[in-house]
Amino acid sequence: MPTSRRRFLQLTAGAGAMSLATGLPSVDAAEQEDRLTAEALNEAAAAPVLNLDAIKSPVIIESIELLSKDREFLVRVRSKDGAVGVSLTNGRAPYLAAILNKLVIPYFISKDARRLESHLFEVYRYRSNYKLQGLALWCPVAWVELAILDMLGRIAGQSYGELFGGVCRREVPYYIASGRRDSTPREEADYLLRLIEQTGAKAVKFRVGGRMSRNADSMPGRTETLIPLARKTLGDRIAIHADANSSYDPPKAIEVGRMLEDIGAVYFEEPCPFDHLEDTKRVTDALKIPVAGGEQEYSQRRFRWMILNRGVDIVQPDLHYHGGLIRSTRVARMAQLAGIPTTVHISGGFGFVYMLHFASYTPQIGAYQEYKKGIEKYGDWFDPPLNVKDGAFTVPTGPGVGIVNVGDLLKDAKQMGSDRR
Ligand SMILES: [Mg+2]
Repeated sequence: MPTSRRRFLQLTAGAGAMSLATGLPSVDAAEQEDRLTAEALNEAAAAPVLNLDAIKSPVIIESIELLSKDREFLVRVRSKDGAVGVSLTNGRAPYLAAILNKLVIPYFISKDARRLESHLFEVYRYRSNYKLQGLALWCPVAWVELAILDMLGRIAGQSYGELFGGVCRREVPYYIASGRRDSTPREEADYLLRLIEQTGAKAVKFRVGGRMSRNADSMPGRTETLIPLARKTLGDRIAIHADANSSYDPPKAIEVGRMLEDIGAVYFEEPCPFDHLEDTKRVTDALKIPVAGGEQEYSQRRFRWMILNRGVDIVQPDLHYHGGLIRSTRVARMAQLAGIPTTVHISGGFGFVYMLHFASYTPQIGAYQEYKKGIEKYGDWFDPPLNVKDGAFTVPTGPGVGIVNVGDLLKDAKQMGSDRR
């Protein structure tokens, strides 16, 4: 039996327990494998994503601007008819501003925003932008896409989830993520416990290894001590996730993965260098614990390879890095064909809110989504305010991204470098 098939059966057998822990669906494995071909994945990715039936007239884009306010960066789009939409970028805007202003925004001016799905391919071709394909291109495209979607949602009176075909959940369970590697195992376990107490989370994620470190740990023996200590400190009812941030070669990743299996962890994220697809697949094949990855992946075709070849068990496109909600939804649709959940990665700005919307309309998202402390400061901007209850966030229901008052949000915002030459 080929490894991929064995892996499938392994993951889907006893699906009750597995789906509770990971969100992996209980489907007939053989039937699923039969329909998993490159052509089927292409077809899933090519299907229309948006439902814009409510918008009958063209929405011609008049301007798109990068704005700064305090230490945040926003993109504002306006139509010729006076409609407005905004996005909040991740922290990369100050140095990607030139790509945004010179290579991305000019393409969109005077275009009909309703054709957004096809614009994503045309802007990739525009001025040979494809030669720059990577986070530096797709982040600026994402900021524009997210602002246009906000504008379209306001025009239609629909939330992002409704624009993407319909909302299937309004509450999104989360794990609280620790971003630390400078802590001793004891300090980290106590920190995780405090995070749980402060946030009501029922799940956590901590870091293992040394981050892109060729097997070196951040301090000697930290990972091996932390994994069992975290379980002992947090108890059996907290769901544990671990992220290696590309730390290991396959033998070391498998060793660490087995330790995570021993404590019943939910998944093991980015065990090997993120662009080493073959090594990542070797680890996925060897372990029982689901392997997650894809936060730096900007290529739809490489996601297709990972899905078709079961390189990972959970895909994690970043809603900024991968170019926005539409492109990430295409990945999720391919993943769904393989029974693979899409648990998106978050990289700042409104990333957390975009994740909530993505989760609102994507059927298979995995058991827990990421929450990093600090998002609370945006809470009151949304309709309804971002709200935590029993370890879950509520998804905003207002039009577009759900901002109550765009005028308030943009008050005192200043335009940044509009030189497009
Ligand atoms: Mg990660």
